Order: sequence, then C-alpha cells, then structure tokens
Amino acid sequence: MKRIIAWLAAAVLLLSGAGAENISDRIIILDDFPAPAAPAEEREPWKPVHLAEADRATIGSDERVIIARPEEYPYSAIAYLDVTGSCVHGGWYASGFMIEKDLMMTAGHCLYCPLCHAPAQEIDFYFGYRNARNYTVCNRGDSWQAYVPRQVAEGKDYQRYDYAVIRLDENVGVKTGYFAIRHDVPDDELSGASFHVTGYRNGVLRQDMDRVEPVDERYLIHYADTEQQNSGCPVYDQDNRVIAIHTAEGKEGTRNYAVRITGDIYAEIERHR
Ligand SMILES: [Zn+2]
Repeated sequence: MKRIIAWLAAAVLLLSGAGAENISDRIIILDDFPAPAAPAEEREPWKPVHLAEADRATIGSDERVIIARPEEYPYSAIAYLDVTGSCVHGGWYASGFMIEKDLMMTAGHCLYCPLCHAPAQEIDFYFGYRNARNYTVCNRGDSWQAYVPRQVAEGKDYQRYDYAVIRLDENVGVKTGYFAIRHDVPDDELSGASFHVTGYRNGVLRQDMDRVEPVDERYLIHYADTEQQNSGCPVYDQDNRVIAIHTAEGKEGTRNYAVRITGDIYAEIERHR
C-alpha cells in the first residue's frame, strides 16, 4: 500500500510541474534564521546518513543497551517514525521525542527523502513500540504539521539548523509523557559531561550514554553509539531534559553530531505551545 501511495504522489507531482517536489502543505518553512557560518577547516564534513543500510556508528565497542520496557517513561516519550515520502523511493524510518502534549521534535532532515529530498507525505508516529502489533500509541497519517528552517527544506548548509517541530493532531503526550527542554546550556557545562542518547532502529529502542563536546553555539559532537534511523532522537540529561537532537554520524564512526537547543529554537518551540 505504501508503495502505491508513493507512486500516486509522484504522479501528482509530475503533473504539477517542475520544482514541486520540495513543496508540501504538511511542512511550514521557517525563514527567521541567519545564514550558517562557514565551517572551520578542521571540522568533519557534514554527512547525514539515514536510509542506506550502512554499518552502525559504534565508537569502540558497542555499549548500547536494549530498552526492555519502551512503554515506561522516559522511553515512552521517544517516537519511532515510519515515514512515507512524496516520491518514488517509498519511505524511511527515524526517531523523535515528545516535548508537549501535542508537540514533538525530530531532526529536520528526517522529513525529507534521503535520496531525492522530496518531503514526507505520511508519517506513523509510534510510541512504546515493541512490534507492529504491540505499542502504546500510534498517531497515523497526514494530519501532522511540521515547522523546519529553510536551510533544511532546501537541503543546503543545514547542519546547524537540522531540527523540526511537529504538531500532532491528538494529545499523544498525555499517554506518553514528554521531555523537558534545556536551552542555551553553556559550553563549560556541556564539555565532557555525559548524556543519554536513545533512539529506534528497525523497531528496537537502544540507549547509550557518553560525553559530549560543543563544536560551536549551534551543534556538538557526542560519543554515544548510534545507528541509522536514530536521527532525531533526544540527547538528554538524568532529569530527562533534552539539550540537543541527534542528527548525524561522523566519519568512520568516530563521533556523532547533535544540534543544540539554542534560544531561537526554544523560541520556536514556545511559539507552538
Ligand atoms: Zn525520494
């Protein structure tokens, strides 16, 4: 069914003309962002990877643990996203997390096809997921509304802006709980401190905890082990306060990246409360 929907969506896009593939009435583009700073020479090139079945980004030995009871808070507030694109490539998977009764966050790139950058059309948001018949909540379909920075929508220089705020059409957070947000955490508080990183891959929720290092005011490196599909999962402290969104794996599995919750991102969240 999913593939049929994807093909139908592609046919409509062809009829509606060139350039239509990046336009979606599900996604509102945010313009209030400065142009990204030029990356420093020593930084790793940005490498978003989220669809292909590449190796896990384990750093050293894999220290992650499987979350045996994903229905228990805070794991209950972590989303497994089954995304159907508006292109011929079918769909992809990602992670996210609740931050309010009807609001969640993910990485912005999770809303775009990794192969052609066409926007997501339908998303099934699962919580407390064990398998296709055993989960706490599933919010299905195309009634969500996402807000993403223009850099992400255009797929250019978006490493520092790789987030999305999504409004769901029901108060899922009443059943799942949700994370707190801690914004503008100073560099010296982050540097060397350890945080949880917990995300879904192929329906299994795993967690690691490791240290982070700020790169600049908008993003940081973290050393927790992650996998494909973990994009969009929370980086959070012992008090379940999210300080960053996991967005990408670095080269050769030596490090991972996360977008920090800056004041402007926090303001965008507040705008939807
Ligand atoms: Zn595609």
